[in-house]
Amino acid sequence: MPQIIDGKAISQMIKDECRERVAVLSADGKVPCLAVILVGNDPASTVYVGNKKKACEYIGIKSLSYELPETTTEEELLALIRKLNEDEEVNGILVQLPLPAGINEDTVIKTISPAKDVDGFHPENVGKLCIGQPGFVSCTPAGIIELLKRSNIEIEGKECVIIGRSNIVGKPMSLLMLRENATVTVCHSRTKNLKEVAKRADILIVAIGKPRMITAEYVKEGAVVIDVGIHRLEGKKLCGDVDYDDVAPHTSAITPVPGGVGPMTIAMLMNNCVEGFEKR
Ligand code: NDP
Repeated sequence: MPQIIDGKAISQMIKDECRERVAVLSADGKVPCLAVILVGNDPASTVYVGNKKKACEYIGIKSLSYELPETTTEEELLALIRKLNEDEEVNGILVQLPLPAGINEDTVIKTISPAKDVDGFHPENVGKLCIGQPGFVSCTPAGIIELLKRSNIEIEGKECVIIGRSNIVGKPMSLLMLRENATVTVCHSRTKNLKEVAKRADILIVAIGKPRMITAEYVKEGAVVIDVGIHRLEGKKLCGDVDYDDVAPHTSAITPVPGGVGPMTIAMLMNNCVEGFEKR
């Protein structure tokens, strides 16, 4: 039987640690403050933003909510970000992605002060990750490192294969695994012989965005499998990029969907907010 990596329990542990840190830090009456900006009314984004606000409340982080209409222009959004960059009370700024057509995401990300970029998407923070300097790290990959470490899974010296090279998951994941001394291979849609490459992995991290694409044929016996994907099937059931029932019996440890990587993203966002406050 594989070890089922419990993202729900581990994320709760991280949130509780954040809550304790905030209680200590806010003894003088000052609390961390996260500004959350939502443009438009995409239903999934509205749910994510709601969950982030709930987590802030639990931990004791003040959250400022900016819900802007779909018709907001890029300049209006940038003006709000610049105002929040200057606001000393605010130590984290989060712009929920994706943004409506007509607003350039790269420009928005670059406008957020790197010191308040709790999502870790600003090129300065990405660059720091690349050269091994401290800075904010993208929440989902940072959460995966916590899942592995807190499940006592050794990373150093292991063959790690990451399927997916997006800026928010695959690429930062590869840098973090490298930092942890894994031997890292990154695969993408042009990779040849994906099954053979994936089968080399002691730790296989899957972030493709294709429901249940990864079957047992891609997995070495006894590998650790981390499934980043999240998809809502008909009937509202959730599944990942990994065919869990097919793959799990061949692994030594695996993350379920839901309850694996998903809850870690918000927990690490909270961790970044508290860290930002500590560094002020
Ligand atoms: P993207 O669509 O940005 O990236 C997908 C990556 O997978 C690309 O690099 C693409 O390659 C690669 N890919 C696509 N098809 C194949 C294939 N057939 N073979 C090999 N590689 C392939 O997705 P994200 O990284 O943003 O997200 C991935 C998944 O993780 C999604 O399901 C998303 O919903 C989920 N997610 C979950 C989060 C969580 O909190 N749990 C957070 C973020 C994402 P190429 O570059 O060549 O196009």
